[in-house]
Amino acid sequence: MEERDFFTEKNETKQHTIYCSSCKQSAPYQIRWIRRTKKQSLPPRATEDDRARFKAARDYMVRVDDVLRCSNPRCGKRIEITSLQTVVLL
Ligand SMILES: [Zn+2]
Repeated sequence: MEERDFFTEKNETKQHTIYCSSCKQSAPYQIRWIRRTKKQSLPPRATEDDRARFKAARDYMVRVDDVLRCSNPRCGKRIEITSLQTVVLL
């Protein structure tokens, strides 16, 4: 079974404060995440191995956005998001 068989996916937007190294200003940005919540149970076709993997699996979030456009109108540079993790365990 694939990992996506273990989880329910939901898109989420969270506000984070991101620092721009070009203009040295921090501002709040809406960052997109995908929340993967473990399903209640596995379908009957799951193997022994799938069940072991499913048991060990945890809910987590994956960050969708990697880059932003600086919201400072005098800057507008590209910001690479390095201050946030790509995957967050819940
Ligand atoms: Zn900036």
